[in-house]
Amino acid sequence: MAYSPSPRDELRMLTNDLRAYVEALRVWGVQHIPADQPPEPSSPDPKVAPALHRPQPSPAPRGTDHPTVPSASSPDVQEIHLPIEPPLAPLSRLSFPELEAVAKQCTACRLHQGRTHVVFGVGNPHAELMFAGEAPGRDEDLQGEPFVGRAGQLLTRIIEAIGMKRQDVYIANVIKCRPPNNRNPEADEIAHCEPYLIRQIALVQPRLIVALGTFAAQTLIQTKLPISQLRGRFHTYQGVKLMPTFHPAFLLRNPERKRAVWEDMQMVQRELRQLST
Ligand code: URA
Repeated sequence: MAYSPSPRDELRMLTNDLRAYVEALRVWGVQHIPADQPPEPSSPDPKVAPALHRPQPSPAPRGTDHPTVPSASSPDVQEIHLPIEPPLAPLSRLSFPELEAVAKQCTACRLHQGRTHVVFGVGNPHAELMFAGEAPGRDEDLQGEPFVGRAGQLLTRIIEAIGMKRQDVYIANVIKCRPPNNRNPEADEIAHCEPYLIRQIALVQPRLIVALGTFAAQTLIQTKLPISQLRGRFHTYQGVKLMPTFHPAFLLRNPERKRAVWEDMQMVQRELRQLST
């Protein structure tokens, strides 16, 4: 099935991209963006604002470390000094390896300060089924892979219960760096990090997404409804069907809820079969 976002999703993706790109520019030390440059004639995508195209740095002047971008004609636009290369393009243009490389250098929010690893994602880059969790915990931060602790082992069994293997699916989190003491991620952290997940989804093009737990479900569906009211039916995220279900860590503490997750996963399995016929 081809990935075709609704106009609303597309606008949201563009907004997220723009926000992430502007933040990346800020982090990269860019202080001015010339507003009066004409669009590039060879622009491959007229929908993308000219400011999103990568500036063409000239070689670093002798005696400096940094490439510079030619100044615009406006007298108050000074030369832009780039401490290091900015991302090649907005996230929506990046390939999987480029996206991973950008994510692994991300310092856009405070969470980078305490991380051991950026936990980008793992699994089949062409998976039909994708899982989205909340954020890395201690084990994931240490190993750099999502869902490797006790909750992760239970997730692996949940995947196997519908006849798939862990390596068949793609697993990622909304937030890529561990929040201190596993606290809930904050709004600005979500705003910086969700664009990575959005691009991962666009690259994987899963048929279905399972959102694990309250935080992931509420963030992706943009609601405050409790997970108990969200689970058991399909929603849509980025143009893809999404099933919220209980988080495996919650199941470890509340094993009586495993039946509900089993029912949700049965619906996922049936839907996957239908979508592939
Ligand atoms: N919980 C999550 O939401 N994600 C992980 O990667 C691990 C635990």
